Amino acid sequence: NSTTGKYDIVVIGGGPGGYVAAIKAAQLGYDTACIEKRGKLGGTCLNVGCIPSKALLNNSHLYHQITHDSKHRGIEVEGASINFPQLMLSKDKAVNGLTSGIEMLFKKNKVTYIKGSGSFVDDHKVNVKPIDGAEDYEISADNIIVATGSEPTPFPGIEIDEERIVTSTGILSLKEIPKRLSIIGGGIIGLEMASVYSRLGSEVTIIEFKDAIGAGMDGEVAKNAQKILAKQGLKFLLGTKVNSGVRDGEVVKIEVEDAKSGEKKELESDVLLVAIGRRPYTEGLNFEAIGLESDKAGRLVIDSEFRTKHPHIRVIGDVTFGPMLAHKAEEEGIAAAEYIKHGHGHVNYGNIPSVMYTHPEVAWVGANEEELKAQGIKYKVGKFPFIANSRAKTNFDTDGFVKFIADAETQRVLGVHIIGPNAGEMIAEGGLALEYGASTEDIARTCHAHPTLAEAFKEAALSTFDKPINF
Ligand code: FAD
Repeated sequence: NSTTGKYDIVVIGGGPGGYVAAIKAAQLGYDTACIEKRGKLGGTCLNVGCIPSKALLNNSHLYHQITHDSKHRGIEVEGASINFPQLMLSKDKAVNGLTSGIEMLFKKNKVTYIKGSGSFVDDHKVNVKPIDGAEDYEISADNIIVATGSEPTPFPGIEIDEERIVTSTGILSLKEIPKRLSIIGGGIIGLEMASVYSRLGSEVTIIEFKDAIGAGMDGEVAKNAQKILAKQGLKFLLGTKVNSGVRDGEVVKIEVEDAKSGEKKELESDVLLVAIGRRPYTEGLNFEAIGLESDKAGRLVIDSEFRTKHPHIRVIGDVTFGPMLAHKAEEEGIAAAEYIKHGHGHVNYGNIPSVMYTHPEVAWVGANEEELKAQGIKYKVGKFPFIANSRAKTNFDTDGFVKFIADAETQRVLGVHIIGPNAGEMIAEGGLALEYGASTEDIARTCHAHPTLAEAFKEAALSTFDKPINF
């Protein structure tokens, strides 16, 4: 512990994977320390990911509603305008509240919080370089959990200055609203940031190499999402390759090329966001020195119980296999601590929801049509549009639909895909259905409150085997 430098469990990284693992380990009775070098707990998610992006999404949506979607509701607002520094402060306040909340949870659960960077000395010893510049020291542990997370994947040849050419980190802390914003990558992070700045008045162009947006989305849902976002003013250059992006004074010059015809074009933008994905982060961890392995993508190699070559060193979250999502990292954090304590743990990788927090939101869990077709699995689809849902109509918020995919014979739920208001909350019911092996009939026979958006969920389930009532 803090006086002897010997712990039962040391966790390296204080993001959603690491901090949850540390709290769970302490709750299971282990003397636990968590090393974090950022100076704040919460990792990418709380500091430069999920939380700041959702703060900006929520407040920009509110502004857009006030300015574009209130008059017809009988709400007259004169002279609404954006105070950008205050918008950013409000985001920082949300982040600070949550990160300091984790510090309190560490205290409550008696997790030792070590502010420094951790580096392997041997398979039981970790060198700590304190962030306050004090001298390095060593700690040791019976078990070590690595949760060092990920970082934005660089675009070869494009130099990031986090001012004009930015990653997801820079775009969350711009000094002013760019007149023109170009984004490389039509994935979730790119589209969320596109929504934020488009609502604040930027002209936004999304450049995507593939012919569709939204990596991992059901094809039909992705097409719909693109249509709706285009209607909101986002410009899409699909099937388009970026050749270069160079800062020239206060503008960025981007050369793009049509992936099929090879035709080249030059675009000019005030800010360029590079959002082509994330890669595992292991800088300074010195994992090679103790014989741990990484694959070609840089992910630390583990077995099904998160164990490395040294079975008492486990790896969780973005730095290893699986979707790079906060809730996936958290599940693994719990399971890793439970494996150490009980020898068994549980993460259902077939049931990890994804959400894009645009408006409308897009959320899905389980398999999509393309995956089932590729596996030759016979399925039925049931869909219900929000235009036929009384709550959505009442709220004048009717874009989108709920789509169920069920096994053709047994009606067991295989996947749920929602584009619509509050999809991100509603998908939890889909996750529960998958976890319990529910059939669509189970859902259709479950009484849902009226008037709620969730009635669309129920009727979409019903539509896989019978006629819906309200459509
Ligand atoms: P991280 O959160 O990356 O945490 C790792 C921590 O380890 C970091 O704080 C780092 O400083 C620390 N560290 C690294 N090396 C060392 C070392 N040697 N010593 C000490 N400390 C070290 N996911 C969602 O589920 N929902 C969302 O809405 C969402 N939105 C996102 C929006 C953006 C803009 C971005 C960038 C990401 C978003 N994500 C979202 C992804 C999510 O942030 C990650 O999946 C999640 O943070 C992964 O958690 P982790 O604990 O594995 O790693």
